[in-house]
Amino acid sequence: MALLQITEPGKAVDPQLRKRAAGIDLGTTNSLIASVCAGVAKTLPDQNGDYMLPSAVRYLADTLIVGAEAQQSAAEDPLNTILSVKRMMGRGIDDLSRFGNRLPYEFVPSDAGMPRIRTVSGDWSPVNVSAEILKTLVARATETLSGDLDGVVITVPAYFDDAQRQATRDAARLAGVEVLRLLNEPTAAAIAYGLDSGEEGVIAVYDLGGGTFDISLLRLQKGVLEVLATGGNSALGGDDFDQVLAEWLIDASGYTKQLSHAQLRAVLMQARSIKEQLSSNSEVDIDIIERKFSYQGSITRDTFNQLIEPLVEESIKACRRAVRDAGLALTDISNLVLVGGSTRVPCVVSEVEAFFGISALDGIDPDRVVAIGAAIQANILVGNRADDEMLLLDVLPLSLGLETVGGLAEKVIPRNTAIPAAKTQEFTTYAEGQTAMLIHVVQGERELVEDCRSLARFELTGIPPMTAGAARIEVLFQVDADGLLSVSARELSTGTNASVLVKPSYGLSDNEITGMLKASFDYAAEDAAQRSLTEARVEAGRVIEALSNALDADGEALLKANDIKLLRDAIQTLERLISGTDYKAINEGTERLGMASEDFAGLRMDLAIRRALAGRRIGEVDQDFEQDSNKSRYR
Ligand code: ADP
Ligand code: MG
Repeated sequence: MALLQITEPGKAVDPQLRKRAAGIDLGTTNSLIASVCAGVAKTLPDQNGDYMLPSAVRYLADTLIVGAEAQQSAAEDPLNTILSVKRMMGRGIDDLSRFGNRLPYEFVPSDAGMPRIRTVSGDWSPVNVSAEILKTLVARATETLSGDLDGVVITVPAYFDDAQRQATRDAARLAGVEVLRLLNEPTAAAIAYGLDSGEEGVIAVYDLGGGTFDISLLRLQKGVLEVLATGGNSALGGDDFDQVLAEWLIDASGYTKQLSHAQLRAVLMQARSIKEQLSSNSEVDIDIIERKFSYQGSITRDTFNQLIEPLVEESIKACRRAVRDAGLALTDISNLVLVGGSTRVPCVVSEVEAFFGISALDGIDPDRVVAIGAAIQANILVGNRADDEMLLLDVLPLSLGLETVGGLAEKVIPRNTAIPAAKTQEFTTYAEGQTAMLIHVVQGERELVEDCRSLARFELTGIPPMTAGAARIEVLFQVDADGLLSVSARELSTGTNASVLVKPSYGLSDNEITGMLKASFDYAAEDAAQRSLTEARVEAGRVIEALSNALDADGEALLKANDIKLLRDAIQTLERLISGTDYKAINEGTERLGMASEDFAGLRMDLAIRRALAGRRIGEVDQDFEQDSNKSRYR
């Protein structure tokens, strides 16, 4: 019998047994693939020596092109050339229409509201398009490493939600690769610098790419890297630098006519090249002739710095917010990692370093650092470094919870909780004899369900009929390492259960997470007041209903007519309070009604005991007046 082999800790695995693993940075603008060869993580170049693959796919009648050539055809063939597909991953067609004219494609709806893009060769979903980019990268790796890959790690932004992560996994499945794990981009960057085995502390990862800006704060503690907070702006990046520089060029040229779409594209391409040259030269000569548009002159780095200053400042503001959000002081941050091609711009580096008050780590190209970290992680996960035990924790960008009575959102797992995470919470029934419960899973920070995002609904049926508040329903929320959520509900006395895996067809629309977080701060006071009022009304309604039922059942048998009238009047008084908006008055009214009915409750208890002694089951004893305030919430 063959024995399983285990290497000595710290020793390299026998080359014969080495598995082929790669890390993929599937970027909005550029994508890369990297692998650990002879102990060193390297990005793999294509036949021309280019390691960056522009994330562009051009569909032709019976073939397709991926990369630089596709990117260059964007101006002449915009409908069939798909750029920045990452922005569309996991998004519904409604979300995409909100992108407005930034997406020049023709969308056709398909099943489950997922959009497809109409091209000459057919209708393709964003997942299909991403799969083409992945296939191209994987083919590059297969060739370089002379064999099929055993597994890959693909990076995603830390804020990607379930739908966006699922869409990324789907793209990998279509591309025929085994995903070992989805890894957050900032975490990958920290790993590339070896910070996961460095000193404990907080790491800021500033990622300014082509079209997006992300700031992430990670904490390394006891060998675990945890994302503390994320922030950023999904519409800020190097493309905006190109835009302001193109406007400057058009101004400087004195060209007054409206530029055609093709001319504008061409000027933007020129601007991009000038911008990139300005990262290593303090002045660049310009000589542009694009059809009728022409400009000869030069631009200095100082002028360019002034043009982009408001954009850089915008990113610094987001950093400030993230630091505050994580409850940190700037002095808590011990390492700064720069990621993304746009951090090659010198004034970006100096402003970010000035803000954090520390120098950025260097040594790895900012546009390769994510792929390199992913490759290191893939190498470990595939088993090539058996000695390494690296546990990575990521974080939930938004709180997950359930709808409770009155349309309130009850948070089960709060935002910024490290994942994988699991949490149970007990709920109970609201109505007499309720046998089914609608579990409505929501995401967001606001107190009212209508202000949160609905993720899924499912029903738990087969709850045995009991008095309100007697059934015990345990709801389990589980978020796996990739951020996918499963929710299950179980009625404890019978074990009947129901569950749902949340793979919503709709992702969050652009900027929505930032918007949702901002709203939760803006409306915090209002929300808290609304919650107090709703809770007061729900509790008052419950007490009224229980007392009315009890009066109907046993009032005449146990009370004098005058006492019944007093209690009925007290109910009416509380009903009037409920229609007002003073939650304190409602709570006081509820308490008064509870006290006024105490004697009646006692009499009923005696009656129930007498009945039980007369051969009736004790289970029929009413618990209408149970007032345990620690009791879980009513649904
Ligand atoms: P993404 O993460 O969005 O895929 P990248 O990290 O590859 O993007 O960054 C792409 C952006 O970086 C582009 O706007 C590109 O112009 C810019 N960029 C690349 N090299 C340089 C450079 N030397 N100087 C300034 N900007 C650069
Ligand atoms: Mg990137």
